[in-house]
Amino acid sequence: MKWIWITLSMLVASSPANADLKVFACEPEWASLVGALGGDHVSVYVATNAFQDPHHIQARPSLIAKMRNANLVVCTGAELEIGWLPVLLRRAANSSVQPGTPGFFEAADYVRLLDVPDSVDRAQGDVHSQGDPHIQTDPRNILAVANALAPRLAELDSGNATTYQSNTDRFLSRWQTALEGWDERGSKLAGIPIVTQHKSWSYLIRWLKLNEVTRLEAKPGVPPSTAYLTTVLQRVKQTEVRGILRAAYQNPKASEWLHDRTDIPVIVLPYTVGGNDQATDLFGLFDSTLQLLERMDNE
Ligand SMILES: [Zn+2]
Repeated sequence: MKWIWITLSMLVASSPANADLKVFACEPEWASLVGALGGDHVSVYVATNAFQDPHHIQARPSLIAKMRNANLVVCTGAELEIGWLPVLLRRAANSSVQPGTPGFFEAADYVRLLDVPDSVDRAQGDVHSQGDPHIQTDPRNILAVANALAPRLAELDSGNATTYQSNTDRFLSRWQTALEGWDERGSKLAGIPIVTQHKSWSYLIRWLKLNEVTRLEAKPGVPPSTAYLTTVLQRVKQTEVRGILRAAYQNPKASEWLHDRTDIPVIVLPYTVGGNDQATDLFGLFDSTLQLLERMDNE
């Protein structure tokens, strides 16, 4: 009897009432952010990696199981995950992470979205009816999301609120300093003509004032035909395009096609945390992104 009591009290001591928040993150950038703000008090599961297309993920049983046990779901929103998140939410049937509850957080709610279409026609491809959801390509958006996410962690786990606050203060001040450096480096890239693959870079392009001459996809999310690529080639020949941008997860075919005919370098950006060796966290993501883009300036 005595032995049982000791064992029980040890168990209780190692898992206090306000222990770890279990967080389900849809994409690596939000997993990384939750990790930075939550520190030791959160355990984060990330549903996708940088080499998967976040528009198209299978609602696998393992994802459902993770969502069932989560205290908080952190996703991009703005319909990026429209093909799989609603299925997970329904099948997991976890009432504390449903939309409208404190356990459900969508980053896009805290950012002003670009390119909100007047009308939506799904025949036009992966059209995002609420606006462009690829918000993590502008570091100022990360700041806005961090400011909204921190109080959410404190609300769900009030016992650790002061730690969340100090983690957040530390992250924000580091981010602010890094941002000044990125802004400075980015200012030298303004106006550089580029071609992109998918419409994934609107926020990056706006931030750095890059000149997006055209895109390789005629319809978002749909591989372009050779006929269409030929029209892209004509346009590219009329301007001095310095780089073809694509995300680590995207099919290289179209960008290589254009590269073979123009010699314009293909720049594979990490797009999210884990997209290359340098992008190990959000700081590395932007360090690497700028470094890769700076090659266009040096040519
Ligand atoms: Zn998209």
